Amino acid sequence: AGARPPLYLSALNESQRAAVEALDGPVLVLAGAGTGKTRVLTTRLAHLLTTGKAGPGDLLAVTFTNKAAREMKDRVAALIGRPVEGWWLGTFHALAARILRSHAEVVGLKPNFTILDTDDQLRLMKQIVQAADIDDKKWPARAVLHQIERWKDRGLGPEKIGIAEAGDFAGGKAPEIYRDYQERLRTLNAVDFGDLLLHNLTIFLSRPEILERYQQRFRYILVDEYQDTNVAQYLWLRLLAQKHRNICCVGDDDQSIYGWRGAEVGNILRFEQDFPGARIVRLERNYRSTQHILRAASDLIAHNDGRLGKTLWTEDEPGEKVILRGLWDGEAEARFVSDEIEAIERRGGSLDQIAILVRAGYQTREFEERFLNAGISYRLVGGPRFYERQEIRDALAYLRLVHQPADDLAFERVVNLPRRGIGDSTMQLLHRFARASEMPLTEAALRLVGTDELKPAAKKALGRFMEDLERWRGFARDLPHTELAERLLDESGYTAMWQNDRSPDAPGRLENLKELVVGMAEFDTLEGFLEHVSLVMENVTSESEAKVTLMTLHSAKGLEFDYVFLPGWEEGVFPHQRALDETGLSGLEEERRLAYVGLTRARKRAWVSYAANRRIHNQWQSLIPSRFVDELPKDAIDRIVDPGLYGAGRYDAGGEPDEWPRNRLGEEGGRGAGGGREFGRYFSGGNAGRGNVARFSPRRDAFARERPPRLIESSSAPSRSGGAFGVGDRVFHLKFGYGKVTAAEGDKLEIEFDKAGTKRVMASFVLPADQ
Ligand code: ATP
Ligand code: MG
Repeated sequence: AGARPPLYLSALNESQRAAVEALDGPVLVLAGAGTGKTRVLTTRLAHLLTTGKAGPGDLLAVTFTNKAAREMKDRVAALIGRPVEGWWLGTFHALAARILRSHAEVVGLKPNFTILDTDDQLRLMKQIVQAADIDDKKWPARAVLHQIERWKDRGLGPEKIGIAEAGDFAGGKAPEIYRDYQERLRTLNAVDFGDLLLHNLTIFLSRPEILERYQQRFRYILVDEYQDTNVAQYLWLRLLAQKHRNICCVGDDDQSIYGWRGAEVGNILRFEQDFPGARIVRLERNYRSTQHILRAASDLIAHNDGRLGKTLWTEDEPGEKVILRGLWDGEAEARFVSDEIEAIERRGGSLDQIAILVRAGYQTREFEERFLNAGISYRLVGGPRFYERQEIRDALAYLRLVHQPADDLAFERVVNLPRRGIGDSTMQLLHRFARASEMPLTEAALRLVGTDELKPAAKKALGRFMEDLERWRGFARDLPHTELAERLLDESGYTAMWQNDRSPDAPGRLENLKELVVGMAEFDTLEGFLEHVSLVMENVTSESEAKVTLMTLHSAKGLEFDYVFLPGWEEGVFPHQRALDETGLSGLEEERRLAYVGLTRARKRAWVSYAANRRIHNQWQSLIPSRFVDELPKDAIDRIVDPGLYGAGRYDAGGEPDEWPRNRLGEEGGRGAGGGREFGRYFSGGNAGRGNVARFSPRRDAFARERPPRLIESSSAPSRSGGAFGVGDRVFHLKFGYGKVTAAEGDKLEIEFDKAGTKRVMASFVLPADQ
């Protein structure tokens, strides 16, 4: 008594301190960005430990990412002056996995279960979908998996999914598939991410004594970013907190940005009902941003309906106004950003304190290339660099294969992508033959399809692919390389594969493919472009040097930077076209919350920019500024618009934002960033959405199937076939057994096999037989 409060408490304001000191009972800290919610949570942890209210083992603290968990551990350790091991501090997934390992047998698993990654999950689901005999064109495995994941987010196990819930999804077989999938996982002693929480719930509900043990143990529960919890996570927390009711959640309804992944902002509203007598703490002072930045963000978010509503103020200086910059095109925008970055550096700012936050992954390409040219080091958070992304590597493989027939790696990557029925055994045969005769795979394939070495179906499939390749090589000679790329990706069925794919990442991949073509247009030839890509891929920077951060708005949650660039504020880009196509306003409001998250990451300065033109595949399109630009308060921004951007001076510098031709989108068919001509395929067929699926016309109807593929003139690779077989020779073939040569023509033989009948085979697959 009378002792001075610990130092860490004096680093808090009064409301923050109240939230930290209210250790017992339910507490909800509901407050805007940068008000110290995370700081409150960290300090609360420290306070629980130093006051002796709780030991590390009594605490359960949930963060949104592993990185955030690491930071919180470090911060608390610094506050209390000692490292603490064995903490229950981590993401929902990490914590649930730990609990599941201790009680795996309750749900029929062994403690050493595997957590499947997305690829494994998908492979498994493909088998199940095939076995269920549903049309996998209409219901691809990815889509089914996605639906099951959403059910898991909502805490719904297979037993809860009846026809009423599933409808005719997957031809009415969704419940059955869901059951099979769970059954298979169990047999494999494996779980997916959603299972971690779901199995925890099953354990808690079926074994009250286990639940009670955890309820006893976790006397204090702390949760960051509460607005983004889904139903399963919410139920999990509620069960665990029921006994002691010492649960402290911090969140901001204005920053709820994972609705598309099952997060329910309603969890915030329910808190008071579920925990009667909950103490609601509001924090209103923002410690992160300048006045201008805060004004811009607050006025913007005020355009959303149905908010809980908050006041935010700061004692920080007014600072610089938010720069609002309209530019001619994407390249000018990237140049503008890199020039500003260089200016920050000249004034002594560090690259580590600069972030560029984009709406969608494809938008990083323009900046990555600019930074490489300007020698600005950057790191890409939350995903591979543009040219390292899966769909980009696939597309590049197609291009390389057309450009350079001997590129075996490219051939292998795409020969059965999308699936064409060219399986492992065909590939093994192809490899054996190519090795034996020292020729590239494409050439080996061309030779093999003229024989009976392959099973009829594989032979036909490979034959078709070789014909396609031949035709695409013709395009490479006759068409501009961007058009080649578009036709190649459409005619190969590659874009259709992603169009039919209902997983949440498929639309992003399609956007990346479009962006790839945009990038190609900057080069004169295919060769020049491929050369550029290999140079870009080689460029790696060291870990320790300072770097600009490039990331999506979604992954920027909870972080802060001195300088933040927010490019691409155009209708159809941000807000994203998908949100505009939705009925109702919820999608648009989530986009606005993203904009709010973006602006509030900035401590000292923020730049918002938009381009009047962007190249969307081969065509220039004019874009209009995002509606969010209008919603920024005029006195908190400095608006600089390059002259002549919107024609006839109407929307140039000084033009009233209100005059922006809002209805132009409508006149253009609401295509926004995804516009184009109508061809009925992805690249030529309007927007990148799934609406196109039906319009994707059957491939190469007019193409003569029967025509045998033209052989590539074999020049360099001499055939090393055993060579000297002549008519009448007795031979042995691995697959067809013994037989007699009836005709020989180069490296091909016609053989009358004792059992298999007459076949055409490659000489190099034949051994001389003694008799
Ligand atoms: P977000 O909603 O973006 O997650 P937040 O509410 O979690 O934000 P914090 O990240 O905890 O906010 O704090 C924002 C910044 O303000 C941090 O740099 C933090 O150290 C600082 N800060 C918070 N409270 C105080 C305080 N009382 N005095 C000084 N600085 C503070
Ligand atoms: Mg935070």
